[in-house]
Amino acid sequence: MAGQKVRTRFAPSPTGYLHVGGLRTALYNYLFAKKMKGDFIIRIEDTDQSRKVEGAQLNLIKTLEWAGIVPDESPEHGGDYGPYVQSERLHIYNQYCQQLLEDKNAYYCFSTPEELEENRQLQIKQGLQPKYNRKWLPEEMGGSMPSSEIRKKMESGAPYVIRMKVPDYVSVWFEDIIRGPVEFDSSTIDDQVLMKSDGFPTYHFASVIDDHLMEFTHIIRGEEWLSSMPKHLLLYEFFGWEPPKVAHLPLLLNPDRSKLSKRQGDVAVEDYIRKGYSSETIVNFVALLGWNEGEGSEKEVYSMEELIERFSLERVGKAGAVFNVEKLNWLEKQYIKNRPAEKIMQVIKPILLAELEKRTTLQPLEVIKSEDYLRQVIELMRERVGFEHEFITFSSYFFFEPETFEEEGVKKRWNADTNDLLREFIPELESLGEFSAENIETKLKEFVAPKGLKAAVLIHPLRILTSGLSFGPSLYHMLEVLGKETVIRRILSGIEKIAISV
Ligand code: GLU
Repeated sequence: MAGQKVRTRFAPSPTGYLHVGGLRTALYNYLFAKKMKGDFIIRIEDTDQSRKVEGAQLNLIKTLEWAGIVPDESPEHGGDYGPYVQSERLHIYNQYCQQLLEDKNAYYCFSTPEELEENRQLQIKQGLQPKYNRKWLPEEMGGSMPSSEIRKKMESGAPYVIRMKVPDYVSVWFEDIIRGPVEFDSSTIDDQVLMKSDGFPTYHFASVIDDHLMEFTHIIRGEEWLSSMPKHLLLYEFFGWEPPKVAHLPLLLNPDRSKLSKRQGDVAVEDYIRKGYSSETIVNFVALLGWNEGEGSEKEVYSMEELIERFSLERVGKAGAVFNVEKLNWLEKQYIKNRPAEKIMQVIKPILLAELEKRTTLQPLEVIKSEDYLRQVIELMRERVGFEHEFITFSSYFFFEPETFEEEGVKKRWNADTNDLLREFIPELESLGEFSAENIETKLKEFVAPKGLKAAVLIHPLRILTSGLSFGPSLYHMLEVLGKETVIRRILSGIEKIAISV
């Protein structure tokens, strides 16, 4: 293996959406491969035909690509080691299974599901770990079934599976990159089914064959597969193949340290995409679910390039990693805070255009769509929004007529004189040469001071009239971005509406 190009794989089953745990597995495989100047491959494991979901394969690959995880080989991209979908490789599994049968490392099993269940229940009752009872293990392989019986059953056309014969009294040992040495006693290993009665291989068999034929150097996957390792290693041994290096990733946990589940929040990557998280944040967040750079590093915000440069399997922990949504939201905020306005614009423009079809605009369209205007909105709001789409939805008053005025705010901030005061202030605003935050502020203060009033008597009503809301960014800056004409128009029309309600 020394000197060999690193090859890793993500091997999802196309049973639905991409789970965040799956994204982490894919990401770690990708980061490790890229760091080692190797290749990252996607293989689709669809041997359980009953669980296959139409369209899931493409969706998985597209979601990974959204995250910036682009494979070097995959069913969609091709490659020299294909086909990359297991259901297209059945002839290969058959051929290798034949070899195991001939070498007496596998045998036919005709036990019915009812028999197996009965046996299982019996073993549980006896306090034993349920295992196949080897009823059909042939005499010549150390079992008790005569070959004549096996032949007879085969000729009758009875359905069968093919099982591996786990050697007795051996210990299977391996070194996990994350967990260190792991040992299993073969007495705990079941005679795993390799080929099912529908002619499809099981996961265990197909993945070992493919991992070898596709020349993977490292297998990086979830902890739930750790207990399958001994079966896999025995298969490697039967074939005389050198096994790849393995790393089993820690579990993902809910904040209460139970296993991450749908019941406590979203687990599908698509749910997070729909909510508006950026791919950069999701990748950053998922990368930190189990990996850290080590002592002394306070860094939490990483780009994909930085992750590739710094990632190492040795720094992946064994303990479960808690999925903390607050951290995710914090990362998204950091991301928006630091992202160049041009990039944000690319995301929000299509949202704006879609909204424009539905709403009455506050200003002429050319203003709203102008890059200069968008940039000003972005700079003013970037510290206040949680998602990029909120530049449009959260501060929609920069683009659209506020449809309502916050009732509570109006109640609290208006008195009998407020509308007159606002009317009186309009010519002051009109007189401003440069409609800048600074000038507006000075003007407002100069206007209220001789009346013995506080700036607040105008600040709050102005905010409500121009935005519909009683909270938001600095009022003066907000008015500057909105522009003189719009501000005055909104005050006038707002006063009319509010005069009716107060
Ligand atoms: N198809 C398995 C899964 O969906 C792959 C496990 C592995 O990486 O070996 O988790």
